[in-house]
Amino acid sequence: MTFTVHGVGVSHGIAIGRAHIIERADLEIDKYHIPGEAIVEEIARLRDAVQQAKTDLRAVRAHIPTTTIADIAAFIDTHLLMLEDSALTFDAERLIRKLNCNAEWALKLQRNALVKAFDEMNDAYLRTRKDDVDHVVARIQRILLNHAPLKHELPGDRLEGMVVLADDLAPADTVLMRRNGVIAFVTDYGGPTSHMSILARSLGIPGIVGAHGIRRYVSENELLVIDANDGVVVGNPDDVTLSYYREQQVVHQRHRESLDRLRGAAAVTLDGQHVELLANVELPGDFEAARNVGASGVGLYRTEFLYMNRNDEPDEDEHFQTYRELIEALDGMPVTIRTLDLGSDKDFEGGAGPLPANPALGLRAIRLSLNEPNLYWPQLRAIIRASALGPVRLMIPMLSTLDEARQVVANIRTVQNEFERREIAFDSTMPIGGMIEVPAAAVCADSFARYLDFFSIGTNDLIQYTMAIDRVNDAVNYLYDPLNPAVLRLIATTIDAGEAAAIPVAMCGEMAGDVRYTRLLLGLGLRQFSVHPSLLLEVKGIVKESRAADLAEPARRLLGVSDPEEFKTVIAELV
Ligand code: PEP
Ligand code: MG
Repeated sequence: MTFTVHGVGVSHGIAIGRAHIIERADLEIDKYHIPGEAIVEEIARLRDAVQQAKTDLRAVRAHIPTTTIADIAAFIDTHLLMLEDSALTFDAERLIRKLNCNAEWALKLQRNALVKAFDEMNDAYLRTRKDDVDHVVARIQRILLNHAPLKHELPGDRLEGMVVLADDLAPADTVLMRRNGVIAFVTDYGGPTSHMSILARSLGIPGIVGAHGIRRYVSENELLVIDANDGVVVGNPDDVTLSYYREQQVVHQRHRESLDRLRGAAAVTLDGQHVELLANVELPGDFEAARNVGASGVGLYRTEFLYMNRNDEPDEDEHFQTYRELIEALDGMPVTIRTLDLGSDKDFEGGAGPLPANPALGLRAIRLSLNEPNLYWPQLRAIIRASALGPVRLMIPMLSTLDEARQVVANIRTVQNEFERREIAFDSTMPIGGMIEVPAAAVCADSFARYLDFFSIGTNDLIQYTMAIDRVNDAVNYLYDPLNPAVLRLIATTIDAGEAAAIPVAMCGEMAGDVRYTRLLLGLGLRQFSVHPSLLLEVKGIVKESRAADLAEPARRLLGVSDPEEFKTVIAELV
């Protein structure tokens, strides 16, 4: 009998194939005593396993398809770096010595400490890094326990045309699946912002996450349809369903081909409105991807990664070198560098202490920066130095008061005056912009526009703070609605304030890359979209098919509608 299971689609496309179920039960890790004289041997055993894990990962890295747009290698490199990271292996060695325990157990304790630190982080994206810790630790433990590798890691083409069902997958698994001919995957867990999901988008593999219990409903080799567009798994499809999805596959394929042709095309609406399509980047590998899809610049460079997986802070030169790489990779295109958006200084000190309650409402982003000069000033100075190398724009995250904006502008002027005296090169016209992601800033956007050169609307946080929901809390996810009238009014207020003050307004939250909302946002007057490189062409496709003048009227009408039924009718014209 045909059945369906729902999850969250993390990439586009439809796949039809037979199921291959991966049972990856949690590894059983026991503690046992290692006598003093055997400690050196136990540490050697750990080091050998780490070495083996590195060799395995390098082999995976060598099989990365060269045709993918994102630098997949960067994800594998993250795991390789972790294997070299003292916080993981050095501390595990320390625990073996201190507790006279076996290597597997020491790794488990160290894993728990790191995961706890990640759990306390106030950022959904960064929290997903704890999956990386899990994957790396499990890899070493599997070697220590002489476990066989995962089935799909075996070489060969046994999985050609199959759909992998697993509890969770690591980035390395995703790459190998592609190599082994896997055509789609479904997992019980994982979020749309995890590495695995990002990779699936880059590799173009249809994927669904959060399909809880999927492996209980499906049996090995059963025929499945994976509709990643809608996050639906159809099991045992009948003939009518199958032929429907086969048709959809053809439609999707034609759509992809037509998108590829859009790479070099201008992002202009049918009535001649120019739209700027920028890229959101995080890791060095994304720089190249941004260029490959024809982004007109970087609208959001999240610099948090510079601070991660280490016990010290990046200094001015390290910041500067990283920004230099980005500017050079973008080759003359504008680059918007956002100053750090860490939840608390514990983020980079390895979780030395507990975060306060409600960290999203605490000392985060610009609040933390203004409170921690040692963290902030090296970055500020490096961005100002980097402005001499190309068109750099500095962006302030999470503004809530004018005073914050004014302080940052004053700090920048102080550094620029010093550089001038010391004859250090910089661009005195570097635009300084702010993220509008706190309702207080959106409501008073007209005032902020007097101090700033541009706005970028961060809908991920704007929705969280407007709806009073924690964006990482599953239980209140149902309230996370970009179409909520309050959210839409705040977006419109910000766009209008930017227009009145003649400063550009971009949107860099996930809403900007979701094609369901492109027409609505065009209608509200948004002309700059900053999105993940893998989504840019989709958005361009919608822009080119839209007539901005026709969208403005219903979009504005929507803002005044109070009757929920009427709201639904108007929104149907737009999304
Ligand atoms: C946002 O809040 O929309 C945003 C782009 O910033 P981040 O997701 O990094 O908080
Ligand atoms: Mg944000």
